Amino acid sequence: MNILHQLRWKLFLSHMLIVVIGVVVLLATAFFVAGAQLGETPVSVSDVFGVSETTIPAPAAPTAAQEQFQFVVEESLLVAGFAALAAAIIVSLYVSRRIVEPLQELSLVSRRLAQGYYRERTVIQSDDEMADLSSSINQLADALEQTEQRRLTLLADVAHELRTPLTTIEGYMEGLIDSVIEPEAETFALIQHEATRLKWLIQELALLSRAEAGQLRVETKPVALQEIIQNVVIQFRPQFTAQEVTLDLELPDAPTIVRADPDRIEQVLINLLANALQYTPPEGTVTIEVTPSDYFAQVEIRDSGIGIPSEHLPHIFERFYRVDKSRTRRSGGTGIGLTIARHLVYAHGGEIWAESSGIGHGAHFYFTLPMEETERELA
Ligand code: ADP
Repeated sequence: MNILHQLRWKLFLSHMLIVVIGVVVLLATAFFVAGAQLGETPVSVSDVFGVSETTIPAPAAPTAAQEQFQFVVEESLLVAGFAALAAAIIVSLYVSRRIVEPLQELSLVSRRLAQGYYRERTVIQSDDEMADLSSSINQLADALEQTEQRRLTLLADVAHELRTPLTTIEGYMEGLIDSVIEPEAETFALIQHEATRLKWLIQELALLSRAEAGQLRVETKPVALQEIIQNVVIQFRPQFTAQEVTLDLELPDAPTIVRADPDRIEQVLINLLANALQYTPPEGTVTIEVTPSDYFAQVEIRDSGIGIPSEHLPHIFERFYRVDKSRTRRSGGTGIGLTIARHLVYAHGGEIWAESSGIGHGAHFYFTLPMEETERELA
């Protein structure tokens, strides 16, 4: 970088310039005005003030005392000018150090963060704008560090999740090849189950990365919410029956026509229903309720399951967030289902949120979808 383009030098030079201008103005004033008063100026008073020479009598030639006085004035001004210059150099160096050094530190920390050192923090101790900037950079670093931590945890979890079914499949295949395991339908069903789990996990990860890259396309059309819900319910009934959880529907008789992409909304319902089933013990109940209104239809999925502690509620839609890491890890959760659901609902122009009165009180998940316009007009 050109040395004159550095902030330190710009500040220094601007301070110098102000002092030099001050000194030149003072000297010029002393030279012209005092000189004119003492009758020595090469420029007449009329030139300076535009006053007719006839109104002001021409000054008499300066005496030795006047000349001495003018000399003293000019010399004092020169000394004062140099003193001001020296003071300005000291003040300028101090001020530019106070401004430039924190800026250099902030820039160093930003560069380190950009290189992936998310533990870097700035330690600027002041109470001015620089401290505000420093605290914003530290907040950014906190957010980056947390995201990185979750990414690393997810990598470990994904590796674990992928390894478990693969090891099972590998073990069974080896057993079948060595004829240690009988080629029974039960064995093949188990291998198929593990392969399905793998496929599901990979699909979710691919969907999340597309959603986060802003590449999720929704092709909306007028569709009855009841139809989408029934499709999902048909898929889930056997699992609900197997786990002895009751699945209730509270749907309006008249079709609730929303503008939505049925496949994407099915995905949202699958994620929410799978969670409700996963976190509701046997003999519990899961209810799906639809409430249409003027502009939006609201879908509620409530369960009588384990509930969500209030401190976790604001975070459960964040990617890779899991309330109880050990519990969900055992059951194959990765903390991306709700993030995907949120992306999908937002892509429709809707809202999604959760409520829970805490552990043991069940959870309520809500999302909204825009009503089809013709529906509103008919209503
Ligand atoms: P996961 O794959 O772990 O279920 P999600 O993104 O779907 O990931 O959910 C995030 C977390 O929210 C879960 O790990 C779980 O702790 C909590 N959660 C989601 N739905 C429910 C529910 N119906 N009841 C209790 N906890 C829930």
